[in-house]
Amino acid sequence: MSTAERALVAPLDVEKVRADFPILSRSVHGKPLVFLDSAASSQKPQVVIDAMSEFYSSGYANIHRGLYELSAEATRRYEAVREITRNFIGAGDAREIVFVRNATEAINLVAHSWGRSHVSEGDEVLISAMEHHANIVPWQMLCEEKGAVLRVVPINDRGEIELEALEQHISSRTRMISVCHVSNALGTINPVDEIVSMAHARGIPILLDGAQAVPHMKVNVEEIGCDFYVFSGHKLFGPSGAGVLYGRLELLDAMPPFLGGGDMIESVSFEKTTYAEVPQRFEAGTPDIAGVIGLGAAIEYLESVGWDAIEAWEVELMDYAVDRLAAIPEVRVIGTARRKVPVLSFDLEGVHPHDVAMVLDQEGVAVRAGHHCAQPVMERFEVPATTRATLAFYNTRSDVDALVRGLEKVLELFD
Ligand code: PMP
Repeated sequence: MSTAERALVAPLDVEKVRADFPILSRSVHGKPLVFLDSAASSQKPQVVIDAMSEFYSSGYANIHRGLYELSAEATRRYEAVREITRNFIGAGDAREIVFVRNATEAINLVAHSWGRSHVSEGDEVLISAMEHHANIVPWQMLCEEKGAVLRVVPINDRGEIELEALEQHISSRTRMISVCHVSNALGTINPVDEIVSMAHARGIPILLDGAQAVPHMKVNVEEIGCDFYVFSGHKLFGPSGAGVLYGRLELLDAMPPFLGGGDMIESVSFEKTTYAEVPQRFEAGTPDIAGVIGLGAAIEYLESVGWDAIEAWEVELMDYAVDRLAAIPEVRVIGTARRKVPVLSFDLEGVHPHDVAMVLDQEGVAVRAGHHCAQPVMERFEVPATTRATLAFYNTRSDVDALVRGLEKVLELFD
């Protein structure tokens, strides 16, 4: 969104939004909670908590099997969320939405099911140097099993994938490109339209890890044109335990099951089992039914707040945070991509990130310190770890001020 477009958007009423998240009014160590770790997992609005609690209190039953009313109702509610999710990410068909536990499981599903039947010895899987471990390890396991090669596109000093570098790493043996839409350690928004075009021009399917994208922007998988898109509900203001794999129907349809068991079969005998159609083929066993219902409530909540208002507020907040951090000479921000979400990873000169996070915690400020499950990113920027503050649409300028005051305190203590 351009600055001119942002100016036309009705501003977000952040205090009203905050009132929807009960946890944001609690204290920690006697100080008001300043929650700056939404990239790890975000907080939940009351409507999500209520939807799940109401389901357990008055609507709970297992789905897809029961002939009685309660089970039929639970099934309708669960399947309604499939449609809500389809609409949320702009998929063409609800059968393209598979409910899984989280982004990690979704990537493992694709690496296992699609990967095992399409990747052979000497083939290549291409990822980038900014991936979360969830988008490294499943491919590495596949490559080890098959004798295939995991190739890695490097990133530049700003933490961006350069398209020329990507092009150079594609070969006639590339079978899959799997990259994040948004980096969890750097905040970089990747140029996914261009990356998808480049892959498809060579007939290579592409998976996008959208775990850090969907909490910040409106995503449309059909417009992007990717083959697979994955995300976790718990980063999207929904509960933990429910995540999503989107796969183009044509691809999903041709894929063998990942996990075997109940609910994913057509018929079972000891001689031969036939499998259900998609998406049931990939949803073996009893799912997190209440989690999926909570995810549906989270999506409806976000849409009621409005993406334009969310995006405009987050840009304003990020600009403010970047300026305030830039005024502290000891801070070096890691991840300065031209297009990024408000994920602020930084090094505070002379102080280990764990010490930074512990002092901030005493001030009620929750940030993450570590390698953020992206150890290769830390290596790339030659730091053992970073402190990471992430902003969501429920954060305010005064949250940023509390972070800055906390960092000044850290510097005093470690002088
Ligand atoms: N990909 C990215 C970019 C992430 O940030 C995360 C979570 N930090 C994951 C994948 C994995 O998400 P989950 O732990 O919910 O499976």
